[in-house]
Amino acid sequence: MEIHDGDGLRTTVFFKGCPLRCIWCHNPESIGFRRQIAFFDQKCISCGTCASLCPSGAIEQTDGFPVIDRSRCSECFICAKNCPVGALEGFGEFWEMDDLLEYVLQDELFFKNSGGGVTLSGGECLAQPAFAIELARRLSEKGISVDIDTCGYAKREIIEEILPYADTFLYDIKAADPAVHKACTGVTNELIISNLRFLAERGAKIEIRYPLVKGYNDGQCDRIGQLLRDIPGVKRVKVLRYHRFAQSRYGALGLSCTLPDTVTGDEDLARAVATLVKYGLDAFTDQ
Ligand code: SF4
Ligand code: SF4
Repeated sequence: MEIHDGDGLRTTVFFKGCPLRCIWCHNPESIGFRRQIAFFDQKCISCGTCASLCPSGAIEQTDGFPVIDRSRCSECFICAKNCPVGALEGFGEFWEMDDLLEYVLQDELFFKNSGGGVTLSGGECLAQPAFAIELARRLSEKGISVDIDTCGYAKREIIEEILPYADTFLYDIKAADPAVHKACTGVTNELIISNLRFLAERGAKIEIRYPLVKGYNDGQCDRIGQLLRDIPGVKRVKVLRYHRFAQSRYGALGLSCTLPDTVTGDEDLARAVATLVKYGLDAFTDQ
C-alpha cells in the first residue's frame, strides 16, 4: 500500500545497508547491513524477560532496565519475540528469492489495476546488487513494474545490468556541489551524477528526488536546477520534506542521532519548487 514511491499502489522492498551516511537519514535502521536489535525504553515495564532469555548474555538488567552489549549480540531477536510490550524490535530479515516473490505477488492484482508495482528501496538497494537485479528481472518477466529508488552511488555495471528491468528510477540528488555533498552524505557526487547522465542517455525514465534540509543543502537549489536543466530527458523533480520522525529510532538502535534540528516548512518547499521550475523542470512536492 505504498503510494509515495512510484506510480499506483506499490509494495516497497527495503534493502538493508547503505554506502552513504546522510546526516538527515530518516531510516537509521537501514544504514547498517547487519540485522539490529532496537530498544525503546519508554515502552519497557522492566520485567527482565529479555535478560533471562538472551542466549548470548548480551543483556544486563541495570536499574530495572535492560542494557544491551551490542558487541555480544548475535541478532537472534529472541528478546524481541518474547518482550510482552514490544519494547524490543528486530530490524532486518533474511529472505530467499522465491519466498519474497511469492510474498510481494500476493498484491499482483492491485499492482495491475492501479498501474503500480514493486519499488526496490533501502538503505540502498543497489548495494546488494545480485539480489536486486535478480528480483527486478523476475518481477519484470511477470509483467510487474519495478521502480528503483536509489542514491545512484553504485558501479556503472550494476546500473547497466538492472536498467532493462526497471520502469522508473527514483534518483536522489542531494547536492550539486561535490564538497556540500560530501559534507552531508560522506561521499562526493561525481559517480552519482555520471550514473545519472548515463541513465538519461539510455532513455531511462527518471524522477529526481531532492531532500530539502535547511542549513545543509537548501542553498543548492539553483545549482541543482542548472545541473538538471542540462541533462536531456530529466524533467521530473520531487522536493522532499525533511522531518525528525526517526529520532527515537537512532537512540533505540544505539546510534548517535545526526538529525538536524530544523525541519522543512511549507514555504521552504514552495520556494525550492519555484526555483527548480525556473530552470524548466517539472518540480513538485506531495508532502
Ligand atoms: S537479539 Fe538475541 S543476542 Fe541480541 S540481545 Fe536480543 S536475545 Fe540477546
Ligand atoms: S522483555 Fe521487554 S519489557 Fe521486559 S525488560 Fe525486556 S525490554 Fe523491558
